[in-house]
Amino acid sequence: MQGYSKDGTDRTNMTKADIDVVAPDIIEKLDRVKGCRHHFPLLRQRVNGKALVYLDNAATSQKPQIVIDSMMRYYQEENSNIHRGVHYLSERATQAYEAVRSKVQHFLNAASRREIVFVRGTTEAINLVANSYGRNHVEKGDEVIISGMEHHSNIVPWQILCQETGAKLRVIPINDDGEILMDEYERLLTERTKMVALVHVSNALGTINSVKQMIGLAHERGVPVLIDGAQAVPHMRVDVSDLDCDFYAISSHKVFGPTGVGVLYGKEKHLEAMPPYQGGGDMIKSVTFEKTIYNDLPYKFEAGTPNIGGGIGFGAAIDYVNNMDMGAVAAYERDLLEYATENISSIKGVQIIGTAKEKASVLSFVIDGIHAHDIGTILDSEGIAVRTGHHCAQPVMQRFGIPATARASFAFYNTKEEIDALVSGVHKVIEVLG
Ligand SMILES: *Cc1c(COP(=O)(O)O)cnc(C)c1O
Repeated sequence: MQGYSKDGTDRTNMTKADIDVVAPDIIEKLDRVKGCRHHFPLLRQRVNGKALVYLDNAATSQKPQIVIDSMMRYYQEENSNIHRGVHYLSERATQAYEAVRSKVQHFLNAASRREIVFVRGTTEAINLVANSYGRNHVEKGDEVIISGMEHHSNIVPWQILCQETGAKLRVIPINDDGEILMDEYERLLTERTKMVALVHVSNALGTINSVKQMIGLAHERGVPVLIDGAQAVPHMRVDVSDLDCDFYAISSHKVFGPTGVGVLYGKEKHLEAMPPYQGGGDMIKSVTFEKTIYNDLPYKFEAGTPNIGGGIGFGAAIDYVNNMDMGAVAAYERDLLEYATENISSIKGVQIIGTAKEKASVLSFVIDGIHAHDIGTILDSEGIAVRTGHHCAQPVMQRFGIPATARASFAFYNTKEEIDALVSGVHKVIEVLG
């Protein structure tokens, strides 16, 4: 990763250990997190005549220069199809792409490369599991458990599965702070439960769920667990071996990489036993009209030419994140969230939706008598990008009895000055519309 110290010296080749020697205390670590902002060229833009304040990171994150460069280099120097050519470029592209698989394996601390399946993103990863594992293990009368704060992509695939099999979808309720009710979860876990699918960090509320504990409870009853980790990996270290989850789904674009690529982690024993999700090239060993022999893991689940350029960019994003001190990132973001929460919630007429004790950098709010869409429009005129709407989590909105929220979501490149701009923006919204 490109790393620059406060005095501007290039630290491109420094390892994390070197950096820790240079800056042993937390203040400097936080400053270094702040210093990473200039790696993101898009953030230098002006929008509507104002300096851009990008607070829509839960929808998608911005990309550091090294991610952009890596993709350009791929298309300029390496572009070729993978896994088939014997020629120089194809081998080079294959090596680069497969190196990313190993990076993801280490990034998530998976036991083997065979457990890392490239997909288009979290949504496709969950659909793969619901279709392949689900159809083989879930029958009429069985139950699938999800929580009341899931993204639509961790609701609809299970709903479809249940409709087709005659199984039941069970939903763990959440409290007024936006936390899962653990007693209710334990009550729902029965011998009918065949699958549990949970969000690690909620994109609508920011809640960080105690997934390790919840996985343990499911495993006591022999039930496998899928974790939707789309919002977790940008904010914390994730260790799938430590969590002991059966499946873990992530999207590159939420973690500073390009769109159109993501990963399904699955325990080898499950992936091995699962039938393919899609058929086509690359997922086969041999094909005749009578019979097809499927390829080994993980290729069995990777039909067709993948998003090679996107994969290369994802690899650069992982390098970038690996070079950050995720403890310092989490501390910095916690500080930002606290500052924003204090300043936004003290504005008269504003209510924060999602007040869990364990929260990542999402601040959803509503203002008395003002529609979220209008909040977003006025903030946009100030150059501030927030998301407004239901955030692909309509049941969460129903739970809180609101149609929509405005959501500011932070990354480590955001600053307190940007939060000050948001606070002024919210005052302006109330002045104009309140
Ligand atoms: C973004 C998101 C998804 C869906 O990810 P895609 O990249 O759109 O497939 C799923 N779950 C959560 C919590 C998300 O934030």
